[in-house]
Amino acid sequence: MHITLVTGDNPGPYTGAGNNTYLISGETPTLIDAATGNASHLDALASALDAASLAQVLVTHAHPDHADGCDPIAARWPAAAFCKMPWPERDSRQSVEFRSIADGDLIPAGSGVLRAVHTPGHAPDHLCFFDETDGTLFSADLVILGSSVVIPSSRGGSLALYLDSLRRIRDLRPARMLPAHGPVIDDPGQVIDGYIAHRQRREGQVVDAMRAGARLPDAIVERLYQGLKPELLVLARESVSRASDQAA
Ligand SMILES: [Zn+2]
Repeated sequence: MHITLVTGDNPGPYTGAGNNTYLISGETPTLIDAATGNASHLDALASALDAASLAQVLVTHAHPDHADGCDPIAARWPAAAFCKMPWPERDSRQSVEFRSIADGDLIPAGSGVLRAVHTPGHAPDHLCFFDETDGTLFSADLVILGSSVVIPSSRGGSLALYLDSLRRIRDLRPARMLPAHGPVIDDPGQVIDGYIAHRQRREGQVVDAMRAGARLPDAIVERLYQGLKPELLVLARESVSRASDQAA
């Protein structure tokens, strides 16, 4: 597959250096994720397309940093189709009409085919896209190198489903993962094992904090995440409240 990284140019506390989107060139020019619709993203996409017309955008999930670019992209490339696994209450925030993708669907992309792999946990509609011929996995927000992924329990996140999704992807044995944030992951098996171990350790720490008398998520967060930036505390609280629900 001929893949070009097209950066979303939307840095921030939740997106790190900004979102990665990927253009797959070929008979069916396909963009993985829409980012947020910055003019600089659309210009970079236009130059990567190099006069080809965008056929479709595969949206990995409905979080705004992946989906808010749909309407601006549709305005510039009116023939493009927008496809994702449905999450109706979130999808209605975009004006485009989404075509629906189900787990296991085979989708023509570039000059090849991608298989949709449902990987809920970070979001209920989260999809990865797998090129079975060369082992490339577009991994969206499943893992981010050097960081951990937020499981927002009050907004459709589930730690149990997330761990299942990590194991499912590990069993596919991808050769490399192209994430929506951060650098390419060349050793997926090792990184995923590290993630699973980290989550299990965190759960153990939550249980220990509760045994030591911390009951409310705030108190547990204070113990576990000392020195965390204030804008990220709310995310830590989300992760902990899910883990403490499960431990309780
Ligand atoms: Zn997300």
